[in-house]
Amino acid sequence: MTPPAAPSTASSAPLRILITGSAGFVGSHLVERFLGEGHTVIGVDNYISGQPQNTALFLGHPHFRFLEADVVQGIPYGGEPLDWVMHFASPASPPHYQQYPIETLMVGAQGTQNGLELAHRHGARFFLASTSEVYGDPLVHPQPETYWGNVNPNGVRSCYDEGKRYAEAITMAYHRTLGVDTRIIRIFNTYGPRMRLDDGRVITNFVDQALRGEPLTIYGNGSQTRSFQYIDDLVEGISRLMAVAYHEPVNLGNPDEYTMLNLVEVMEGVLGRTLELRYEPLPGDDPKKRKPDITVAGTLLRWKPQVQLEVGLTRTLERL
Ligand code: NAD
Ligand code: UDP
Repeated sequence: MTPPAAPSTASSAPLRILITGSAGFVGSHLVERFLGEGHTVIGVDNYISGQPQNTALFLGHPHFRFLEADVVQGIPYGGEPLDWVMHFASPASPPHYQQYPIETLMVGAQGTQNGLELAHRHGARFFLASTSEVYGDPLVHPQPETYWGNVNPNGVRSCYDEGKRYAEAITMAYHRTLGVDTRIIRIFNTYGPRMRLDDGRVITNFVDQALRGEPLTIYGNGSQTRSFQYIDDLVEGISRLMAVAYHEPVNLGNPDEYTMLNLVEVMEGVLGRTLELRYEPLPGDDPKKRKPDITVAGTLLRWKPQVQLEVGLTRTLERL
């Protein structure tokens, strides 16, 4: 692994980039970044968990085009050459993917294959948004990319976890057998502006509940941990990964680890007031802990998260 000098998409010639899931939280930030760098972006989304207002942000931009489509049925792009296909389409919050388990499995399976086929036809680079969920309820802590995970193959989270594990497998198969130029990123819990306040994830629930003056819901006893990454750090890591030739999965996440009760304390600090709590049952198969080992990203991309949780939460609240 040769460390590149500050790899980035910012300095490259204008590219034509197709992004599935462009109307979602992460997808819309990628659209913004790449349009800002002078690239052309084709967004694709069926709005199963995304928001039309995220498409509306870019519709007037001369280098943005939007295709409303279910990528499981096919990606209706037949136009000019493509440089990159970035597959971000998938319900991502536990309530969303548990509401749509079949759609989630299919977008991980058929949706990923349709993206790979499109990339193969165009000789384009393919980028898969995988997840820390491939580690399941981890028995190794923190989680390096070499850890194979501890996943319940048929539990309530399996539609997401196993869909993404299959997506990684088929991405590597297209790389190994057909030579598709692939990248795989394992994204750890990410937050920031443009998350749906009703998506049911912990940060959005806490923000929404705090702003409404309602008690914050703690599932279980609040001792489970997560490591929260601000969206700008993720986008920077993705941009750097696209600029290097590395085909194995790469963790991108912030290694600062918080229990859910720690997270409440940080929220109280940011809001400057005490927050009430309401305890609710822990959902099925909820991982007890999660924290990325980011050695690979540090060495390969010279990347590390820059935004501390207090700062990221403040920015999120300012830009709701
Ligand atoms: P999101 O729900 O906000 O965005 C996903 C987008 O994909 C939505 O706009 C949705 O409508 C679209 N989509 C889903 N199925 C589709 C289909 N069949 N055809 C077309 N569009 C479809 O979620 P997000 O947080 O932005 O996550 C984006 C990607 O990043 C997902 O693949 C997710 O698994 C991955 N990821 C996110 C996180 C995180 O913390 N946000 C963590 C790990 C992985
Ligand atoms: N969680 C919580 N209260 C909520 C929502 C979630 O305590 O209102 C917990 C949840 O049980 C999990 C953690 O917060 O342990 C992170 O949940 P999230 O859905 O954000 O992400 P994921 O479980 O996919 O990491």
